[in-house]
Amino acid sequence: MHDNSRAVIIGGGIAGVQAAASIKGMKITLITDEPYLPYYRMRIEEILQGKAPESLYMHPAQWYEEKGIEVVRGRAERIDTADKSVLMADGSSIPYDSLLIATGSQARKLPLPGERKESFVLRTASDAMALRTALGKASSFTVIGGGLLGLEAASAAAEAFGISVSVIETAPHILPRQLDEASAEVLQKKLLERGVDVLVSCSCVSASDDAVHLSDGRKVPADVLCFSVGVNPGKEIAEASGIASGRGILVDRFLRTSAPSVYAAGDAAELDGRTFGLAMHAREMGTAAAAAMMGNAAEYVPSEPSALLKVAGIDVISFGVPEGEARVETDGDKRRTFFIRSGIICGAVLINDKASMMSVRAMIGRKA
Ligand SMILES: Cc1cc2nc3c(=O)[nH]c(=O)nc-3n(C[C@H](O)[C@H](O)[C@H](O)COP(=O)(O)OP(=O)(O)OC[C@H]3O[C@@H](n4cnc5c(N)ncnc54)[C@H](O)[C@@H]3O)c2cc1C
Repeated sequence: MHDNSRAVIIGGGIAGVQAAASIKGMKITLITDEPYLPYYRMRIEEILQGKAPESLYMHPAQWYEEKGIEVVRGRAERIDTADKSVLMADGSSIPYDSLLIATGSQARKLPLPGERKESFVLRTASDAMALRTALGKASSFTVIGGGLLGLEAASAAAEAFGISVSVIETAPHILPRQLDEASAEVLQKKLLERGVDVLVSCSCVSASDDAVHLSDGRKVPADVLCFSVGVNPGKEIAEASGIASGRGILVDRFLRTSAPSVYAAGDAAELDGRTFGLAMHAREMGTAAAAAMMGNAAEYVPSEPSALLKVAGIDVISFGVPEGEARVETDGDKRRTFFIRSGIICGAVLINDKASMMSVRAMIGRKA
């Protein structure tokens, strides 16, 4: 690649910014449709607690200037893969030699019968600002979905607003993808101490303006209602441009899409039938895509999934898959659970034991 080659990145999230920071020797344009500079999405619950979105910026404006990264605000609507240009919603077009689609994902909402007019999601800084305004006028808050994000939102709201907070989860325990039942119970007790009431094995059947109604007849107060029920990969632009997609935008091990010189990374990408939804993979793919865009492609192999959660003052870290024979080690308030299948450590959960994170991560995939 020569210094005048143009690298264009659609999406200023973790994958997009990581790629922008890694590309050398090309002119870089970063397109973002958010009103803010790229920020740490994983920390937006801090906005509920009163922080300004600007305080979560990954880099100040000066950083982009110094790196020669042109930040374009606006929505990219379509890619003309024959002409090698990105068509923007305002009618302008941006030419590229190499293009990265890093459009992330969008939060899902469930259709709930009933009279309710308003509900929220928590995906962007703007979502968090809207939720904060609503919570300031409310006396109850319910989150549908007891995953990582739902619990963080509930815990942040309970702390900041001191109102009644409930989480509704259909699975028999919270964080069903990351935790085993016993670890989930430890966390659930801590959440209750912090004012978050978690209702498990429950499903919502309808919603009115001040409550949600459960299938067992219970009514849960909900002046404000937030959905935290997963995400859909942002593949619209690929669909609009004739680029192959499945659940996400299809990429090969070099993060190449079906269109020449067009790559995809992060939540939006689908590799070997799998979409990711985790920051660590978005970051890794951003680095790998940058290398490919510079002509130094190396095969991308995703790391084992891990999740780090701090709720109610306790660290919960999970690696791999929490299934198989569970072996528990405790040491004071520390708790380590290893999951073993066919003699191999397939997953682990650490509670209050951040110090062991690196050593335990290295054990995943090894013999027990
Ligand atoms: C509250 C919260 C907490 C989280 N906590 C964790 C956690 O603890 N651990 C973890 O691993 N992951 C966590 N995640 C998930 C993590 O944030 C995502 O996996 C990560 O942000 C994905 O990065 P990305 O760059 O692919 O996409 P995103 O961060 O979603 O960024 C994509 C960007 O592209 C923009 N965009 C989309 N379409 C267009 C378009 N057509 N034109 C221009 N711009 C466009 C979007 O507006 C967005 O700014 C959390 C997510 C949230 C919301």
